[in-house]
Amino acid sequence: MSKTLSHYINGTLVAGTSGRFGDVFNPATGEVAARVPLASATETEAAVQAAAAAFPAWRDTPPLRRAAILFRFKELLDGHTDEIAELIAAEHGKVISDARGSLMRGIEVVEFACGAPHLLKGTFSENVGTNVDSHSVRQPVGVCAGITPFNFPAMVPMWMFPMAIACGNTFVLKTSERVPSTALRLAQLFSEAGLPPGVFNVLNGDHQAVDALLTHPDVAAVSFVGSTAVAEHVYRTGTEHGKRVQALGGAKNHMVVMPDADLEQATDALMGAAYGSAGERCMAISVAVAVGEDTADALIERLAPRVAALKVGPASDPQAEMGPLITRTHNERVRGYVDLGVSEGAKLVVDGRGIEVPGHPEGFYLGGCLFDEVTANMRIYREEIFGPVLVVVRVPDFDSALALVNAHEYGNGTAIFTRDGDTARTFASRVQVGMVGVNVPIPVPMAFHSFGGWKRSLFGDVHMHGMEGVHFYTKLKTVTSRWPTGIRAGADFHMPTMK
Ligand code: NAD
Repeated sequence: MSKTLSHYINGTLVAGTSGRFGDVFNPATGEVAARVPLASATETEAAVQAAAAAFPAWRDTPPLRRAAILFRFKELLDGHTDEIAELIAAEHGKVISDARGSLMRGIEVVEFACGAPHLLKGTFSENVGTNVDSHSVRQPVGVCAGITPFNFPAMVPMWMFPMAIACGNTFVLKTSERVPSTALRLAQLFSEAGLPPGVFNVLNGDHQAVDALLTHPDVAAVSFVGSTAVAEHVYRTGTEHGKRVQALGGAKNHMVVMPDADLEQATDALMGAAYGSAGERCMAISVAVAVGEDTADALIERLAPRVAALKVGPASDPQAEMGPLITRTHNERVRGYVDLGVSEGAKLVVDGRGIEVPGHPEGFYLGGCLFDEVTANMRIYREEIFGPVLVVVRVPDFDSALALVNAHEYGNGTAIFTRDGDTARTFASRVQVGMVGVNVPIPVPMAFHSFGGWKRSLFGDVHMHGMEGVHFYTKLKTVTSRWPTGIRAGADFHMPTMK
């Protein structure tokens, strides 16, 4: 009998009351590991009301005191990394080293958020007019909601709630129903660190909870990460209901390999970036753009044996380089893309469809797949597959490579591998993509920079964490003040000027 999970509302675990549940799988074995409650509008209301009730006191808590709680939260996270990495791996399937690495990237955002007292410092101008001063402050927006995908159960929520809470907001996280346990544990640890009840709430659910949050009058801002179709829906609905929205969507990240690149380095980079986390990363490289036929041949020659030899297995196997996919349905969908690529005329150099993982016949595994001779009109090139499938596109020169990347509908991440500074600089300057790597395959910005793509990889204007995060979770207020000096200027009927 699998366990039944809860929500976390107002500082405590709360059982679901909607009567609707979803299955949470162990992707390594294919078994149902837990049942997750799917929140109704009434349960969503309870979470929003808890956050709304907690807001006034939290807003008025000095930033330094808020930061002290975040600091204790960070220490607790540091002390529980093994436990949390195991929770991530158990529900997502990614190998432990990868789970741990993604958690670290989330903890770095908590570290950055500990600096909130400094980040929230305003500006002051003395004597903007005679005896008149002006100062600007950033104030919290109110109740914020976060809606997150399955592929980073800790890191993506941690792009959002630590920043929002450090800035004085309260938060309702609607985590992915496929990986619900991690966020519940994070919420418990945050409470243990001293966070008052209601400041951070975790709601489990599906589109019903999302739509209730998007239309709720007490939700001021919504951060979303997930697929592009849902990101667009979230952005439209949220903004129509007067909310500030940042909605990060899907991706198809290209890595351009120039003829002068260090091919051993490029091959290592492609292996990790295309097949790490079974390709279920929004910053995974899913397209290798080989410039010149010789580069393409040399790359395929190096990649093919390594893709075929990828060690696929459960997270519990310390030798495993790649785990299973998230669900049976997603596995079938990715396999469908491999079938499609063959029928579209691409050359399947390595076929991972026949994979067998000893002792795990029902796990959602797929071996690494590698396509060559892929063209821009094929669906396996145009669409996000979100699995361990790398496609190689051959182009004659740098300009064609740049044009290819820029013509794609997604603009999340990209990379170029070259030894030539001029080529790299031109690429970084002209490419229509939000995050660019030069000889770095997965250029995920650090916590003190900001994360976000361009084009249909992001709806809204503001990226996540870093100073962009502070701006998203605060409103600017500018105060202009004059104190009585005894000098009367009389009534002015024109626009105030410096005089
Ligand atoms: P998803 O879009 O299916 O789900 C994301 C969230 O939206 C979940 O919480 C889900 O419950 C909710 N949701 C799903 N359908 C909905 C609907 N119709 N209405 C309202 N809410 C709905 O995404 P996923 O499969 O969990 O995650 C994979 C996707 O996320 C990929 O496309 C990947 O590229 C993307 N992603 C993007 C980034 C980024 O930073 N751009 C990061 C991670 C993942």
